[in-house]
Amino acid sequence: MKNRITELLGIRYPIVQGGMQWVGRAEMAAAVSNAGGLGTLGALTQPTPEDLAREIERCRAMTDKPFGVNVTMLPTVNPPPYERIFDVIVDGGIRIVETAGNVPAAVFDRLRAAGIVIVHKCTSVRHALAAEKRGVHIVSIDGFECAGHPGEEDVPGLVLIPAAVSALNVPVIASGGIADGRGMAAALSLGAEGVNMGTRFVATREAPVHDNVKQALVKARENETRLIMRTLRNSSRVLLNPVSEEVLELEHRPGGAAFEVLRPLVNGQRGRAALESGDTTNGVIWAGMVAGLIDDIPSCGELIERMVAQCRARLAAAAALAAA
Ligand code: NAD
Repeated sequence: MKNRITELLGIRYPIVQGGMQWVGRAEMAAAVSNAGGLGTLGALTQPTPEDLAREIERCRAMTDKPFGVNVTMLPTVNPPPYERIFDVIVDGGIRIVETAGNVPAAVFDRLRAAGIVIVHKCTSVRHALAAEKRGVHIVSIDGFECAGHPGEEDVPGLVLIPAAVSALNVPVIASGGIADGRGMAAALSLGAEGVNMGTRFVATREAPVHDNVKQALVKARENETRLIMRTLRNSSRVLLNPVSEEVLELEHRPGGAAFEVLRPLVNGQRGRAALESGDTTNGVIWAGMVAGLIDDIPSCGELIERMVAQCRARLAAAAALAAA
């Protein structure tokens, strides 16, 4: 499974764990990297840049394989100290950064100058082309199915992945809607050179969240996520639960709801508490439609080996069909 993605990222299998808020900690990233994929720490998960520096060291103590750091630049309740976060990343010798959101060109310039491979995550071909022009090395294109922020254009992966592949010269990672080797084979067939998964990795033994959260993902069906904050043009795909229902109810009242009205429901600290306590009814739990494809809680190693085997079998079956 050697291609531009495995070469650029220095990994065995072209499978990336996207940087997930509150989940992308050393336990998660190291488990994925040790299993042959690329694990990713979430920079904003750490309370301060100094904590991020310590988390990077903790991850290094848990794996000698490459891992990345995600820096998301989207609206936040408290503005993160991005300059100092990038200082820590560059000074800490990180070789791979996953960016998302509205990233200034100067940030890409700085990362490139430091020899860092930039994987930029985005949700439209237009933004992907702009990022390519600004020098990112890889685009991770996020279909409408994805957890988190799918953007406002609602193009699912089956269309978005080949559209991005056709438009770009840099290699593409397919993100959103992938949970197993079938999805991986489909993404590769559409021209992507790797896959990114978030929700699927939350339902693994090593994911640092309460077991109730993993069980909730096993239980959820593909139609049990909701898009909240669409009225604020900050659409966010989360699990269906009383909190997401209340957010939608407030948003759909005549006149809508300002962010300040939604903040007590959607704020990240409340979501974090839900992930840690296991009270999945009392905070926003980010999840993609692939929740409907998850029915067990394997280790990251089992998951990745199984995916790769299933992907190979699917591609071989397709090749046999083509030759018949
Ligand atoms: P937070 O507590 O800062 O904010 C909670 C939610 O409210 C987030 O979805 C955020 O985008 C949104 N928000 C904050 N201020 C807003 C405003 N003024 N207008 C509209 N929406 C607003 O978030 P957090 O949980 O600490 O997460 C930190 C960052 O990581 C946020 O930018 C969040 O969106 C992002 N994140 C990204 C993903 C992803 O899938 N890429 C998943 C989780 C969180």
